[in-house]
Amino acid sequence: MLSAVLCAIILLFFEQLRKSMRRIIHLTLIILFSTISMSAFASADVEIKKIASGVWVHTSYYTYPNGVKFPSSGLIVQDGEGVVLVDTAWGELATLELMEQIRTKIKLPIKTSIVTHAHGDRIAGTDALKSKGIPVYSHPLTQKFATEYGLPVPDQSLESIISPGSMVSLGKIDVIYPGPGHAMDNLMIWLPQEKILFGGCAVRAKGATSLGNTAHSDIGSWLQGMKHISQEYNSAQIVVPGHGELGDFSLISNTLMLLSESAQ
Ligand SMILES: [Zn+2]
Repeated sequence: MLSAVLCAIILLFFEQLRKSMRRIIHLTLIILFSTISMSAFASADVEIKKIASGVWVHTSYYTYPNGVKFPSSGLIVQDGEGVVLVDTAWGELATLELMEQIRTKIKLPIKTSIVTHAHGDRIAGTDALKSKGIPVYSHPLTQKFATEYGLPVPDQSLESIISPGSMVSLGKIDVIYPGPGHAMDNLMIWLPQEKILFGGCAVRAKGATSLGNTAHSDIGSWLQGMKHISQEYNSAQIVVPGHGELGDFSLISNTLMLLSESAQ
């Protein structure tokens, strides 16, 4: 009789232990999966990095079919109680994620935006901005090319910067048209207070050894435009390229060297 009771107690004990173990395993799995999905959301391939007071670089990535990730950068500039967004992220979903990060991390509304030429890495998120009533400025040619390439079309064009070497102020930022270069419509951004030059794809990254994608380039005009930029903006403290690491004025010198070699 006693052994039967003991046996029942032991069986009950193991049954409870089994149930507890199952609960623990279940809970562990829930925690594990929620951590994985949270980190996937946090790394939605968009990053914001502060480079000066009221100035941030945003970086998003394009993943090629072979798995290689290629970065693309734009600028976020505080102007009063809002920000100006220079270039969208590389993709519409990435731009939505960028807008969310600006809302939660910078905590200022996007008042206006500008795209620096009609290629996907600059312009892909245009419709995401327009859907929120944010004006998207560009060179007049960008509207034309975006239409031709089947890309979303900016709704505002800066008619006063049609000729090479021209400049217009948009709030606290200066928008420069150096003339045809990486693309016929490529623009650059100058922040006079911070002495920051955003060169977009017309300025190559630190240590670059090639001119990148030159499918829509005019090398001769690009070289002339860069000579003008190197003279006018030689006080630049920080130079931000469209792809890769930012640096100092040496990025402009290096791009000039690559252009001179290529123009020969
Ligand atoms: Zn481009």
